Amino acid sequence: MNETVNTDNRIASRNAYDVVVIGAGIAGSITARLLAEKGISVLLVEKDRFSGKNTACGGLFDRPYFDRYVDDTSIIEQEIRKNIFHLPWGDVVYDCNQVTVKRRVYDRYLAEKAQKAGAELVNSVKATDFTIEAPGRATVTLQAVPSGQTQKVQAKLILFADGPRSLSFKNPLFKKQVRKKYWAYAYAYEVEGLPVPSDEVHIYFAPQLFPWGYGWIFPNKNESNVGVGTLLSQKENNELKKKLFYFLNEFPATGSLLSGRAIKDKKGGFIPMWLYDRLSDDSQLLLGDAGGMVSPLFGAGIDYAIDAAEAAAQTVSEALRQNRFSADFLQRYDQRINERFGKDLRKQMLLTRIILLSRRFGKLWPVKILTVIAFGVQYSRWNKIRILAYPFLGEPKPLAQDRHKLNHK
Ligand SMILES: Cc1cc2nc3c(=O)[nH]c(=O)nc-3n(C[C@H](O)[C@H](O)[C@H](O)COP(=O)(O)OP(=O)(O)OC[C@H]3O[C@@H](n4cnc5c(N)ncnc54)[C@H](O)[C@@H]3O)c2cc1C
Repeated sequence: MNETVNTDNRIASRNAYDVVVIGAGIAGSITARLLAEKGISVLLVEKDRFSGKNTACGGLFDRPYFDRYVDDTSIIEQEIRKNIFHLPWGDVVYDCNQVTVKRRVYDRYLAEKAQKAGAELVNSVKATDFTIEAPGRATVTLQAVPSGQTQKVQAKLILFADGPRSLSFKNPLFKKQVRKKYWAYAYAYEVEGLPVPSDEVHIYFAPQLFPWGYGWIFPNKNESNVGVGTLLSQKENNELKKKLFYFLNEFPATGSLLSGRAIKDKKGGFIPMWLYDRLSDDSQLLLGDAGGMVSPLFGAGIDYAIDAAEAAAQTVSEALRQNRFSADFLQRYDQRINERFGKDLRKQMLLTRIILLSRRFGKLWPVKILTVIAFGVQYSRWNKIRILAYPFLGEPKPLAQDRHKLNHK
């Protein structure tokens, strides 16, 4: 690709790249790094002063995914060995191999790794527009924050890794897939100290909190990440902040653990929990939250963002090698996503639909049946019957032995 070096006040050092990646979150930075390692010219654009600065997240994900792209274990806040789900009819305990991280630390590390690998990282720069002139010929408009200075750069491919409210929605093909009723909003606060053991995360499902949604306590080194979230379509979402304060101060299971602790950081954000059907078009790919790659049951998206980065890097290098950038060619990215986790996410989407439908009719039994399916390995047959008959036969108890490993996905 021809390189034109700007000599005036510039945002990016050139006017043309093979690939422009919008958003230096997890998906964007890992893709940029993988591409740069192959010698591909990449511009990585981040609107914030540094990556992760404003990202609301619990920061919990699977250890093997952490290990793939980080050598520095000081980035781990805690190693997590148990997931404890507090359900209305009792607790379920899973063994696991997970970590918690602070996203402002983890994302920054990933962005700097991409830069070290040779990607050009521009912070405090927002992508504000794009056009696709033809497959392989795209233009992205960049705007420096706060100066407002602009620059247009050319690319063969644009990768949208810019989170839930992606610029890609300017493309009607992508926009029409957005299902906001399946998005959640969640608050993630940092609260001083560790109210739960340092290797356990606690997740609370309770009708007093939300008919459909949950609260959590995830330990970090010196603080805990505490939050609540529910779907935008649920009326409780209008009162989300009140629910957070109820969870922090009064909810019987957590009020005594959390009340009176200083709040060190406050963040909130959208979670787009509905995988889009089409994740590519001429010269364009959607990654991570920009493509709705989040579990609709657990709100977890970090593992998927990493999977998507790997699938995108593979697809982009093939496209560049063969000089093919059409929607038809790039569909192989959609196939790869489908194979890695798309099929699984679609099953979760079906379960979510059933749960929401049963909630609309005020019935609990479909939720119980799904609980038995989803968490069933943790229960004896007698306990499964107790869940279904709850509260008439008393609370089911989790099995003490034979715990199963939980994958956060
Ligand atoms: C409160 C909350 C708690 C969560 N907890 C967990 C959890 O514990 N575990 C888990 O697995 N998932 C969790 N998630 C989901 C998880 O945060 C996301 O799935 C994950 O961050 C997706 O990564 P990403 O790289 O796709 O996007 P993002 O992390 O959203 O990164 C997008 C990046 O793009 C930048 N950007 C956006 N627009 C532009 C633009 N126009 N130009 C330039 N840059 C731009 C942003 O600043 C950001 O850095 C949580 C989400 C929320 C809201």
